Amino acid sequence: MARPKYKNRLLTIPSMRKKCNTCGSIKEVQHRLIVVPKDIPKTKKFKDYVDIPNVVIENYCSVECSGDEFINNYEPEDFYQG
Ligand SMILES: [Zn+2]
Repeated sequence: MARPKYKNRLLTIPSMRKKCNTCGSIKEVQHRLIVVPKDIPKTKKFKDYVDIPNVVIENYCSVECSGDEFINNYEPEDFYQG
């Protein structure tokens, strides 16, 4: 299986205030959950995730609101290929 090539660097979260998806308060966005649809046209280039049709973007104000999936809990053993 060929791995997908990422030519563009991942975009960092721009400094912005949005409504938190969990607690509903307008705060600085600390975490973003981005779900990109599989059938996006590959020939088209998008400046930002928000330009992709049917993309799901959820904004969270804190780790408490975003949930455990945003907490880095990798162990060194996860990368060890014995
Ligand atoms: Zn929140």
